[in-house]
Amino acid sequence: MTAAPTAQPPSPSATTLEFLGREHGHFIGGRWVTPASSATIDVYDPATGERISRVAAGGAADVDAAVRAARAAFEGPWSRFTAAQRSAVLWKVADLVQQDFQRLCELEVLDSGLPMPLAQYVCGMVVPEFFRYYAGWPTKIEGATIPAAPQGKLPGEAISFTLREPIGVVGAITPWNSPLPMVMLKVAPALATGCTLVLKPAELAPLSAMRLAEICQEAGVPDGVINLVNGTGESAGAALAAHPGVDKIAFTGSTEVGRMIVRAAAADLKKVTLELGGKSPVVVFDDADLEQAIPGAARACFFLQGQNCMAGTRLFVHEKVHDRMVEGIAAIARAMKLGPGMDPTSEFGPLISAQQRERVAGFVAAGRREGAEVVCGGAAPSRPGYFFEPTVLARTRDDMTPVREEIFGPVLCVQSFGDDDLAQVARAANSTIYGLSGSVWTRDLGRAMQMVRRIDAGQVSVNMHAAIDPAMPFGGNKQSGWGREFGKEGLEPYLKTKGVSMTW
Ligand code: NAD
Repeated sequence: MTAAPTAQPPSPSATTLEFLGREHGHFIGGRWVTPASSATIDVYDPATGERISRVAAGGAADVDAAVRAARAAFEGPWSRFTAAQRSAVLWKVADLVQQDFQRLCELEVLDSGLPMPLAQYVCGMVVPEFFRYYAGWPTKIEGATIPAAPQGKLPGEAISFTLREPIGVVGAITPWNSPLPMVMLKVAPALATGCTLVLKPAELAPLSAMRLAEICQEAGVPDGVINLVNGTGESAGAALAAHPGVDKIAFTGSTEVGRMIVRAAAADLKKVTLELGGKSPVVVFDDADLEQAIPGAARACFFLQGQNCMAGTRLFVHEKVHDRMVEGIAAIARAMKLGPGMDPTSEFGPLISAQQRERVAGFVAAGRREGAEVVCGGAAPSRPGYFFEPTVLARTRDDMTPVREEIFGPVLCVQSFGDDDLAQVARAANSTIYGLSGSVWTRDLGRAMQMVRRIDAGQVSVNMHAAIDPAMPFGGNKQSGWGREFGKEGLEPYLKTKGVSMTW
């Protein structure tokens, strides 16, 4: 890992600086409104630890105003938009995201610590392509005619069919890792189905979400279709989850907070989808193409500095290739150029906060105490910002703290296996409360398919990890969540079905 401080990275553009300097309140009913209280939250650049902006610390009164605006838009102008008009709006959002490319990239980098090339990929490709994918759906959301015989009616005496209707007002609560895609995952299917939203972005990285709310407005959604309340989870988030005017909560975040969301939503049984934590296995057999598997496993864990729900943080590797895998991954980790995302040559950014860095260091210390071998990394370099070295822990066991817990940092735990009993390998891979993602690396497609069947996760890839695409459903089994995002399945939680029977 190269840790030498670089020359001063490029400064943000004037539009980005103007955006950072604003007094950020809440976006309600199509405009920025003055918050109910004067309390604020400072927003920091994790690469420097310096304050870059400030947002309102919203609470129940702000959430209530936003929910009312969302309800009025849902019942009013938005309900009169045709499916084709909703498609056009979604397509326009994609165009405007691309037009605002530089500002969005810079906000994402400064707010969350993303390396610039990754931010460019996200803002130039991932987000526009996702909106364009969902732009195709409004005109294809269809019910069915059902061959029913209601109350004994004969064919020709009655007709039965289903209507697919938008679920209503959606409360969307998102995390700070990769902030813009997390928001996009809620906004696009909600707009496609005709729902309205109240968004509560992560207080640690709220900037690109605020810009996206403006972009939706500029793209032509009526006032109140998209609303945004800034604030902490305990205050604004909890108020949103409990608000009786919200029909559905779409939550992405930790499993611990997911449980709180379920409890809050239980009072009025609002619908809930949850995208939660993970501790994903990467299983490498001895016939794997190591030229692919070594960089693949390194990327699976260290992408987004390990602050990635899908991160492949538990590596199970056949003993015959164990040493080559570990040495290869450690060599990649040591060579990564660590630095602020605004420096386009940086490959590995900071963690989100000092607190997160302490947490990661604590897990590495626990691993050491419990007998793991630190092959590389394991420390925070001495430089400004919240950096932590990409770390490989070898000789780990299932019962070790860093193997059991979601670290949400760049720490890979390696275990080896000696036999080819697939049931045994899969049991080890599944020995976690999570079930989000996983990957299998082998040239034997029969073995690959058997492992795909056995790994209990919402998404399993072969000879790649975390293969995301707008059309592919994604979500968690076990304590990694409820429901799916992406693809056609991602629309379902935003729709309700009405069965209609008619006679004459
Ligand atoms: P978090 O659970 O702490 O916070 C997520 C969001 O919930 C934030 O907006 C926060 O303000 C809000 N929140 C906190 N307490 C709340 C409460 N009591 N009521 C309502 N809202 C509340 O998670 P985080 O630290 O921001 O993100 C990291 C976690 O997110 C990891 O566990 C990661 O695995 C998970 N994640 C999952 C996915 C997925 O698709 N499955 C994607 C990204 C991140």
